[in-house]
Amino acid sequence: MGHKLASKVLEIEENNKGVKAGDKVVVVVVPYMSCGTCIISCRNEKTNSCSNIMVLGLFTGDGMQEQIADSIDILLLVHNLSYNQMAIVNP
Ligand SMILES: [Zn+2]
Repeated sequence: MGHKLASKVLEIEENNKGVKAGDKVVVVVVPYMSCGTCIISCRNEKTNSCSNIMVLGLFTGDGMQEQIADSIDILLLVHNLSYNQMAIVNP
């Protein structure tokens, strides 16, 4: 619950995705976050079986909170959609 959400970026590090504070974003794809470093899975490009996998809304904060910290990797910059429209986006 609360694993799909639309929000506004409050703070963000400089990045190459063009996302900046104040932008509207949708948390995209499947809300699984692999560690990228475990030997058996991530280093063999099998991130879906990561031994340190985190699931948004299960192991971490979710969209039911007022504020949440997420990796920029799971954010999609959105233009010209309302928050109501963004809330039903399933990219
Ligand atoms: Zn991993």
